Amino acid sequence: MKHKRLFIPGPVEVEPEILQAMGTPMIGHRSSEFKELYAGVQPKLQELLYTANPVFLSTSSATGIMEGSIRNLVAKRCLTIVCGAFSQRWHGIVQECSKAGDTIDIEWGKAVRPEQVDAALATGKYDLVALVHNETSTGIMNPLAAVAEVVKKYPDIMLAVDAVSSMTAVKIEVDKLGLDVCLAGTQKAFALPPGLCVFTVSQRAMERSADMKGKGFYFDFQAFREYHEKDNTPCTPSVSHIYALNVQLDRIFREGLENRFTRHQEMANRCRNWARQNFALFPEEGYESVTLTTVTNNRGIDITSLNKALAARDATIGNGYGKLKDKTFRIAHMGDCTLDQLNELLANIDECLERR
Ligand SMILES: *Cc1c(COP(=O)(O)O)cnc(C)c1O
Repeated sequence: MKHKRLFIPGPVEVEPEILQAMGTPMIGHRSSEFKELYAGVQPKLQELLYTANPVFLSTSSATGIMEGSIRNLVAKRCLTIVCGAFSQRWHGIVQECSKAGDTIDIEWGKAVRPEQVDAALATGKYDLVALVHNETSTGIMNPLAAVAEVVKKYPDIMLAVDAVSSMTAVKIEVDKLGLDVCLAGTQKAFALPPGLCVFTVSQRAMERSADMKGKGFYFDFQAFREYHEKDNTPCTPSVSHIYALNVQLDRIFREGLENRFTRHQEMANRCRNWARQNFALFPEEGYESVTLTTVTNNRGIDITSLNKALAARDATIGNGYGKLKDKTFRIAHMGDCTLDQLNELLANIDECLERR
């Protein structure tokens, strides 16, 4: 089968050089070669995330550390900001872990306002806020800095951030923002294959997790730290992913972080303009995601047929997520995607639509 270039919001297209790095011959995860590999990616990850704290590697998808954040950090009650499918999932995890929790419910396509978070936190009921930065199901980007500012007003309340589809594409200054957890799966803006999660834990979050009961085994933050001290992971990691991550971090710094952020913003601007000209934008104005564009299907096109036509041109885009299927469609422009590749895709979509 011929490969179709992925413009879906995860997994995204992976460069041949990265796929090659995934195929590096295996080493033992307790070997000195592995320690060297692990120690080598650390400073790069810390620079990427603007943090002095360790950056941990979990061999799981992002959902693992979404669950880990709840299990390690909620003693009292969790407040989850729900504005789409992934934030809804996070609240579901709170419930499945038998933790107490409430939601702020935002209409799909809209973003949370810091005042809403402030009002909820003022009740004094909570010790963790769970926020999805970039809600990939609707294509909105929540105002992370403004929410972080509000949470800082409450010294006992921590902030866990799912940055799955924004990490590496926009600047996230973890320490300055005071993020207690910041996590991302590698199949989105990192542009690596799925199966690895990169995450930070603040010092105070580490302290809270030390006394927490019922954390389970696999996602215990203490274990990640304990092994981190030895340049290692608690269990056998996906060594292949770490080889690929190392190569990708070098590629990221070769491009330059600011250039990478700018490239993502340029692709977002281009795709939004195209969407406005041809359809309409689904997200509320001013809160559109930088890494994907969710387009309102106001022309009632058959998105499955469009994707079939695109497949003949070796590309594929994302349909709307869940209840937004066929009502919207999503074009991802994150990771190693370039403006030229996006332009080519949009030209292809134009042609497919004209020929209908
Ligand atoms: C993709 C995604 C997830 C889920 O990631 P998995 O890797 O499937 O666990 C969570 N949150 C957001 C915002 C996502 O885009």
